[in-house]
Amino acid sequence: MEIKVLQDILSANEALARNNRKLLDANGILAINIMSSPGAGKTSLILKTINKLKGKAQIAVIEGDVASTIDADKVQKAGIPVVQINTEGGCHLEANMISKALSSLSLKDTDLLLIENVGNLICPAGFALGEHKKVMLLSLPEGDDKPHKYPAMFTQADVVVLNKIDLRSLVDFDVAAFHQAVTGVNIKAKIFEISCKSGEGLEEWLSWLNDELALIRAKARK
Ligand code: MG
Repeated sequence: MEIKVLQDILSANEALARNNRKLLDANGILAINIMSSPGAGKTSLILKTINKLKGKAQIAVIEGDVASTIDADKVQKAGIPVVQINTEGGCHLEANMISKALSSLSLKDTDLLLIENVGNLICPAGFALGEHKKVMLLSLPEGDDKPHKYPAMFTQADVVVLNKIDLRSLVDFDVAAFHQAVTGVNIKAKIFEISCKSGEGLEEWLSWLNDELALIRAKARK
């Protein structure tokens, strides 16, 4: 019985995610679902991306948090339209929440939508939002074994971003073993090593994002 309920929830979510995707495609918007544990640097990556792409892309942000508007306030300060979703205990975003958030954004004035999921390494993997790409962010202090311990998050990722690479000499993190572990569960994922703090490696991330934006724009002939 419990399995049936879960399947119903998941299939309802899938249907809503497909609707979101249609709406995003109709408006030529590239949507990126950014997932990680709390503190890995999702907001920092979003703020760095805004800083580098502002003026070159029309960006909007959806912030998912259990509570507070701390991250949304930072995005708003950067002059970017932002919608805060408080899940009030929920450990992940769901497609119906994104659908509501999309209705309060000016879609015709957006071509890149960055969605910050709730900080969690388990639940976000199970819920499609209608996004085009999933980005899994991991930071060095979390340890290089996470692809083994939380494989679903890494299996589904289009891009794995390894943040806080500037801490490499301070923490025991085997970067080569991490690459191997990611490749072991997901041969297709691109891996970028970055530091939001020092700016190291951000060009690669931005270049990937620009390529994806160009593809969406070409499709939508915006
Ligand atoms: Mg955050």
